[in-house]
Amino acid sequence: MTTKKRILTGDNSTGKLHLGHYVGSLENRVKLQHEYETFILIADMHAYAYPKYVDKPEVVSQAVIDVATDDLAIGLDPRNVKIFVESGVPEIYELGIIFSMITSHARVMRNPTLKEELKVKDMGENYSLGFVNFPILQVADILCVKANLVPVGEDQIPHLEMTNEVVRKFNSTYGKTFEEIEPLVGRIKRLVGTDGNSKMTKSLGNTIYLSEDKDSLRKKVMSMYTDPSRLRATDPGKVEGNPVFMYHDAFNPNTKEVEDLKERYRTGKVGDVEVKEKLLNALEEFIAPIREKHAYYDKHRDEVIDIIKEGTKFTRIEAQKTLEDVREKMMLFRI
Ligand code: ATP
Ligand code: MG
Repeated sequence: MTTKKRILTGDNSTGKLHLGHYVGSLENRVKLQHEYETFILIADMHAYAYPKYVDKPEVVSQAVIDVATDDLAIGLDPRNVKIFVESGVPEIYELGIIFSMITSHARVMRNPTLKEELKVKDMGENYSLGFVNFPILQVADILCVKANLVPVGEDQIPHLEMTNEVVRKFNSTYGKTFEEIEPLVGRIKRLVGTDGNSKMTKSLGNTIYLSEDKDSLRKKVMSMYTDPSRLRATDPGKVEGNPVFMYHDAFNPNTKEVEDLKERYRTGKVGDVEVKEKLLNALEEFIAPIREKHAYYDKHRDEVIDIIKEGTKFTRIEAQKTLEDVREKMMLFRI
């Protein structure tokens, strides 16, 4: 048995992973995978919290494989890391119901990420009970393996605060069972979308995928939003808040080149095309090895499926232990 502390993090099973996922969470997963016992969740039940996916089981199910493939392509080592699918660990649902009993409805509705999602995803009054419950399901995802560290993008912080509230409430009500978790936000807290929206997100289609092919990468980069008030290459341009430069800062390791471009942009001595071409080169260099590994796993789909099955089996056993502990603390009837 390992004495390493545990990481739990993951993604919705709603499509392929993108650069936002990378800087928000994947980078830290890869960096810390040997230091922590790492559990990577593919949240397929979460996907159904969104009306858009309710009648699209084939999309959600395909995304399970896509997300696992991305996790492997980015460098997570399946010999160390457990990649598991949420619906394969039904103990999470049981824990979710239990945690919903000790959390007020008003508290969930105050969650700023929940509010933002309602707005961005344009759900109006049509959101489901399951949507309201999804932050609690996420608490159950995290606590089912008694995780210690949760690497996420900034938008997830309110859910992690709720997790610790549940930990405190559960412990004070039924006796010490869970440890508080620690969030770990990525190098870039929230990567903007290619359209200039404040978040790159699958839902808005403003993404660059980690497995993006060369042609579509070019198209996406060349049509990226820049400084809208700049009409000619000789106009002084704005670097701050300009998505193209934010991506340079995030993905171009050649800081000298980036500084030079910024300087020339500010003084109207470089056109958007050159700035974008250089970004394209940097992104291509970053994505090429991921794409290659991705292609390997695409050809070896059975390997990916086995990895998910193994990871899910392992995680389920851990979740059963947690649930056993919870049931005992709550004095639930033993059959
Ligand atoms: P969806 O639109 O389906 O919610 P998403 O693109 O927002 O998809 P999630 O699966 O919700 O992706 O997010 C998974 C993880 O990636 C979370 O930790 C989240 O904070 C992080 N993340 C997602 N997008 C970004 C981003 N643009 N910048 C930083 N982190 C991000
Ligand atoms: Mg999201």
